[in-house]
Amino acid sequence: MARMGTASNHRLAVSLTFDFDAESAWLGAFKVDTPSALSRGAYGAYEGVPRILRLLEKHGLPATFFIPGYSAEIHPAETRDIAAAGHEIGHHGYIHEPPHLLTPDEERVMIVRGLEELDKAVGIRPKGYRSPSWELSKSTYSLLAEYGFEYDASQLAKDRPYWVEDAGRRTDIVEVPGAWELTDSSHFLFAYSPVYLTGLSAPSKVEEIWRADFDGAYEEGGDVCYVLTMHPQIIGRHHRMAMLERVINHILEHDDVWFAQMIDIANLFRSREAANAG
Ligand SMILES: [Zn+2]
Repeated sequence: MARMGTASNHRLAVSLTFDFDAESAWLGAFKVDTPSALSRGAYGAYEGVPRILRLLEKHGLPATFFIPGYSAEIHPAETRDIAAAGHEIGHHGYIHEPPHLLTPDEERVMIVRGLEELDKAVGIRPKGYRSPSWELSKSTYSLLAEYGFEYDASQLAKDRPYWVEDAGRRTDIVEVPGAWELTDSSHFLFAYSPVYLTGLSAPSKVEEIWRADFDGAYEEGGDVCYVLTMHPQIIGRHHRMAMLERVINHILEHDDVWFAQMIDIANLFRSREAANAG
């Protein structure tokens, strides 16, 4: 049994994140509203979320779920289950609308509706934001600052946290970045239309990529973090859940890994920066 890391003593921070897009991915990102497409999103609520919650509980691991307001609105029970299990909930737009396609006023409306629905479903005010489709507009960061967000998880520039810069100025928002290689969607998501996505990768291929990236991050250590970005409707299938559990078991064999929620990683970065400045 390896020694578990903590916030104050770890070699590598690992964060398991799940974007509970459900139907909103099809409505907002792919702009399709057919019953079949929407049912693919619903799979995330009916099968994906319960399976993920069972896996996390089995290993006693914390996670962060980024939830569009629309998912909280139409799947309140699953949203409550996520919150009741102690997982962090972050903002993920209202209906998975890619921010760069919105006017600043439209983007504000979506941020507010997302906040309202999370408040209605579980009474929480999220501190973190991950943009739908990992796109940002030129207004996003001023809006996030205005609505009091403390961190963002929409950028891909580093393997470690950093301050968000907006229009050339450092903001007070911490970036906890991700990577497309460490998502399930880039490897597994199959679609005919409106874009054809091959998807359906063998889990063994993804396992090889995720393990090797973990091994590299662990070797490097320091302030590097390892963030997996997954979706209940994609990772939730049995063969992928089995792969995820093998990756988790691989990570658990290593000493001093800190399984952290995204807010914990952001808070640690903020306190280290304050200590360095002081
Ligand atoms: Zn999403």
